[in-house]
Order: sequence, then structure tokens, then C-alpha cells
Amino acid sequence: MIYYKDINEIEKIRSSALLVSRTLAEIASLVKPGVSSLELDARAEEFIMDNKAKPGFKGYQGFPATICASKNNEVVHGIPTDEPLREGDIISIDCGVLKDGFYGDSAYTFAVGNISEEVQELLNTTKRCLSEGVNNVVDGNTIGDIGSNIEKVAKDRGYSIVKELVGHGIGKNLHEEPNVPNYGKSGKGIKLSKGLVIAVEPMLNIGSSAVCTSEDGWTVLTQDGSLSAHFEHTVAVGLDEPDILSDFEIIENEIKKIYG
Ligand code: MG
Ligand code: MG
Repeated sequence: MIYYKDINEIEKIRSSALLVSRTLAEIASLVKPGVSSLELDARAEEFIMDNKAKPGFKGYQGFPATICASKNNEVVHGIPTDEPLREGDIISIDCGVLKDGFYGDSAYTFAVGNISEEVQELLNTTKRCLSEGVNNVVDGNTIGDIGSNIEKVAKDRGYSIVKELVGHGIGKNLHEEPNVPNYGKSGKGIKLSKGLVIAVEPMLNIGSSAVCTSEDGWTVLTQDGSLSAHFEHTVAVGLDEPDILSDFEIIENEIKKIYG
């Protein structure tokens, strides 16, 4: 069942999604060689609680942390560890919050120190996939219009798309119908209409699309060990243009302070 939201509910989701973005901006200011993802997790949890909200992931189906921290060949759902980040790593931080009964969900893949041009290209392309997908979150389009546009950008650049994991509806539940695959056919799937709020979250691999789950039961890895990136926005369907409820600008302002 798909839950369509009224204006007040969408504003609550916006508030939750913005808090996620502000949390990711906090993390952006801390990501550097020598810092562990457990330290990032602690700061994220503290920041969310200070803002009178609850971490959305902690305890969700037994997940033990506030953020998912997925490094290098880890795709998503990485559990924070005390291992220090190293120069040249990439780390996807996925975060959710619950505030006033509604969830927000967003993810950003960060560079740790300097990364190679090849890896920067993976990050740029994954982010572009997200924006091309999100541009289609408009009344009258379909779920397939989102996925087909994501898929096109990825394929043009020679990256593969993870198919086992998909975006989703979001609201009073972290994951609601409909599924939002990062592939598909234009014009296919359910029609998007006002009141629908979804998380769009492409995951791109440099190598093959195949993934597996690690022994911890959570972390999804690329099967061939190749690098993977992940970006996510919470978005409400708009009449003429998408209403993007999360915000990368505040994250990227923090990154600019460090890297110029
Ligand atoms: Mg997420
Ligand atoms: Mg999500």
C-alpha cells in the first residue's frame, strides 16, 4: 500500500531530511585520515539527539548504529568500526532520523583526503545519476522514468548498477512502498503523483554489479572487490519540478572549507 502525504506531513519529512543533511554536514567536517567510523557514528548520534530527534537506523531490524558507514568495496549497510580511515579511502555515510513521527533518509559518499581521478569520477557519476533520477520525480512520470535515467548515466560511463538494493517510499515508516529501482524502462511502473515521497539512492560499482553480504550479516560488498559509491536524497513528487527535501549544499559547504 502506498501512503500519500498531505502538505503538513511533507513538511515534517522535510524537517527530518534536513536534520539528516545537517548531520552529514557535521560528519563532513570530521572525515579525515585517522578518524574512525565509530567516532563519526558517535558524533552523528549526539547531534541528532541534541536536535530532539531519534536516530532512524539504530535498532531498525537490529542494526546497531546511527549511521551506515560503507568503505571502498562496501556498497551499503556497513557497521561503524574503530579502524582508522586512510588517505585515499572513500566512505559512504547513510543516515536516517525520526522526528515528529516522520523519517528522513539521505546518503553521501565522502573522499578521505586525496583520492585518484578515477575514484573521483565514480563519485561524480554516482551523484549525477542521483540528480538525473531525481529530476524525474515529477507528477505524471513513472517509477521507470527514474530508474531508466539513472541507468543511462551509469552505463554511458561504464559503471555497473547494484540491482539487489533499491530506493523506497518514506514517511511514517523508514521503508514504504513503492520500491524505486535504479534501473528500468521509461514509462513503466506506477505513476508518480503529488503526495508521494520517495528516497532515490543509486549505488554504482566500478567493476561488476554482483554483490554479497559479509559475515557480519549486514555489510553489502562488491563481489569482485571493486569500489562502490552511493548517494541518496529524500524527494517529494512536484508538479513541475522535484521537491528535494534533503540538501547536499550544506554538506558541500563543509567539504569546501577543508578542500577549498
Ligand atoms: Mg539511506
Ligand atoms: Mg534509503
